[in-house]
Order: sequence, then structure tokens, then C-alpha cells
Amino acid sequence: MRNFTEEQNMLRDAYRKFLESEVAPHMDRFREQGIVDRVIFEKAGEQGFLMIWPDEQYGGMGDSDFRFEQIIIEETARQGCGEWFNTLHSRLVGSYIQHFGNEEQRQRFLPSCVKGEKILAIAMTEPDAGSDLAGMRTTLKEEDGHYVLNGSKTYISNGINADYVIVAGKSDPENNPHSMTLCVVERGMEGFERGRNLDKMGMKAQDTAELFFSNVKVPKENILGEVGHGFFYLMQGLAEERLIAAVGSIANARHAFNLTRTFVQERKVFGKPLSTKQNTQFKMAEMDAEIEVLEVFVDHLVALHNEGKLDANKAAKAKLQTTEIEWKMLDLGVQLHGGAGYMTEYPICNMFCGARVNRILAGSSEIMKLIISRDIFSDTYTSNLD
Ligand SMILES: Cc1cc2nc3c(=O)[nH]c(=O)nc-3n(C[C@H](O)[C@H](O)[C@H](O)COP(=O)(O)OP(=O)(O)OC[C@H]3O[C@@H](n4cnc5c(N)ncnc54)[C@H](O)[C@@H]3O)c2cc1C
Repeated sequence: MRNFTEEQNMLRDAYRKFLESEVAPHMDRFREQGIVDRVIFEKAGEQGFLMIWPDEQYGGMGDSDFRFEQIIIEETARQGCGEWFNTLHSRLVGSYIQHFGNEEQRQRFLPSCVKGEKILAIAMTEPDAGSDLAGMRTTLKEEDGHYVLNGSKTYISNGINADYVIVAGKSDPENNPHSMTLCVVERGMEGFERGRNLDKMGMKAQDTAELFFSNVKVPKENILGEVGHGFFYLMQGLAEERLIAAVGSIANARHAFNLTRTFVQERKVFGKPLSTKQNTQFKMAEMDAEIEVLEVFVDHLVALHNEGKLDANKAAKAKLQTTEIEWKMLDLGVQLHGGAGYMTEYPICNMFCGARVNRILAGSSEIMKLIISRDIFSDTYTSNLD
């Protein structure tokens, strides 16, 4: 039995109703247009479903219990609305402002983001720098009392909708490749242009864009945290980002399992429900077991995170396993749906296409293995059983 508070269960019910009435009915249109209407952020903000964690003075509830976020992520997946990146805005990017911004920046940026009037994105990836962020070429250099941003970013989620983009640039590229700085680039700043809204295999409703920066004058007041510490800040943010990914992927896997379970009970083959075939039963039993084990692990990490004890290694294990099992479940789901699984009118089809990216973004499966193996062969390695 999962231990959510009454307040959290109320949030789950209210948010589910919001998704059912305000978001889910529009998802097909959002997929066709390649972007979610901005008004969805505003409506969610009005009802308190965006940033829950900021203090009341910034418009939030002031409760940083990660289980609120877990509920938002799980319900978004269950209602088939995962292409609306509420959590990217609310938790992933918003946290950078909270943790690394100063008081003036929190006051300036957070309230409008809590209300959904302004939308957030984070831009790290470049055409030649994804897994290897140290390879980025974008520069952010001090000049006459301000900073000048030059470079380009790609695959940026919320890239078209975003009003505030946290951009990483190198502040001392000649001497130190890890010397990065984060800044907030605002819609309308001179020299900030958006490129294509990229056409993708899945996640069609999510605007994923190219961004270009040409001599963008960034005021000192928009520098987040200390100059040169950006790489460290990004690494700090990545553990939570991977937990967010893990919560989403395991919720997706369970949702795909449930859709498939219903389908195989209704679908008749050779005169009997598909669920009566031993192949179906064994495959579904395997998935139920694998998903449940991971649900428990993810819940454990959520609790650890609430205690401030989530480390990069555990987050990497969760991200690796949940995204791989999600993929396995979706492949099975499509297979058991037969031809119907290949038709976009069946949710399993859209989920299959969307989930393919989850083993790539927020650190690919290979990068997760790199993190885990570094720990295994370090002098400080201890297994959980020691
Ligand atoms: C839909 C979508 C949304 C995204 N949203 C954002 C966003 O909002 N903000 C943002 O900054 N970025 C975003 N990204 C970018 C994403 O984080 C990167 O695509 C990801 O980090 C991989 O980088 P890459 O594409 O450059 O691939 P590469 O790094 O070139 O990787 C190519 C392959 O090489 C493997 N590989 C890389 N290094 C190693 C290694 N050392 N050992 C073994 N194998 C290795 C990878 O695992 C992968 O299989 C998004 C991407 C997508 C597809």
C-alpha cells in the first residue's frame, strides 16, 4: 500500500479530472499541430497544478515533498497526456531557479511560472554535444558589465512555447572546458531566435526546437548562480531529472500493461480470448513482476529523495531499468494488440512511438551504465548487501 497523504490523494483526484476535461480531449489536435496550446499551462496554473513546491510568497504551496510531483507525473501518463511537459516546466527547470537563483531572481521569475503565464525550458544539448556536455560550443562571456551569449542548441523541449530558457554556455572555453555558466534568456531578447519545431517519431504534441543565440546581451541579473559553476549545477540537477524520468517510465509501463490486459481479455483468437493463451499469460506475468519490482524501487528512491539522500548512481539505476522495462512492455503491448497495435487510433501505438526516446534523453542507457560501472570499479564501492 503506497503511503500518500489525504492531501496528496485529493490532488491526484483533482488533477485527474483536470486532465480528463481540459487536456486529454485535445491531445490529438496538439499532436497534429506539434505543440500544446499555451492556455493549458495557464489553466493548470490557475488550479495549482504547475509548481507545487515554491514557497507561498512565490505562489506555490511551499511543500517540497516529491510525492506531489510523482502524482502529477503518474496521472499525466495514465491519462495519455505525457506529451504535455508539465513536469519539465514545473519541477525540472523551475528547480534551477529555486536552487541556484538568488532571491531577486526567484521573485522575478517564479510567480509567473507558477501561474503558467510564463513557460520554462532548459537548453544544454547542441548539435555536437549531447551526452558529452563538455563538448558544447556555446559561449557566455563577460563584456562591459553584461554577458554575451553566442551559439546554438537543439532538441529543446518546450522550445517554441518557452518564455524563459535556462541556457548553458562556456564562460572560459580556452582554459577550462568544464567552466560553464547558466543564464536565463527571455523571449524577445535581441539575437535570440527559434529555429524549426522538429518533426519527431513520437511525442508529437511536444514542441522540440532549435534555438539560436547571436550576440545576445544577457544582463548580469540573469546569470544563475556563480559564474563557472554551471557544469556542477547541471550535474546536481541530473539526479532529480533521472528520477523524474524513472517515475514517468514506470507509470507508462504500468499504463501500457493495463491497456494490454484489457485488450487481450476482449480480443478473441481462434474462438477464445487472447488472454487464455499461455503465451499471453506468461508474457504478462513476466511484465507484471518486472514492473512491480521497479515500482517499489522507484517509490524507495522518491522517499530517499525526500530525505535528501538520492545519489546519481541510484538515480541512474532507476532510469536505466525503468526505461528498458517500459520499452519491453510497449513492444509486448503492440505485439499482443496485433495489427491494431500499429494503428494510431489505439493508444498503445502512440505510447510505443513516444517511449522510444526515453532510453535516449535525460542521459541515454549507455550513459547510465557508464555512471553505474564507474561506481562498481571505484575504491568506495559497496553493494547494498554489505
Ligand atoms: C525529444 C527530445 C527532447 C529533448 N529535450 C531536451 C531538452 O529539453 N534540453 C536539452 O538540453 N536536451 C534535450 N534533448 C537532448 C537529449 O538530452 C540528447 O539527445 C541526449 O543527451 C543524447 O545526446 P545526443 O543526441 O547528442 O546523442 P549522442 O551523445 O551523440 O549519443 C549517440 C549514441 O552514442 C552513445 N554514447 C554517447 N557517449 C557514449 C559513451 N561514452 N559510451 C558509450 N556510448 C555512448 C549514446 O548512448 C547514444 O546511443 C532532447 C532530445 C530529444 C530526442
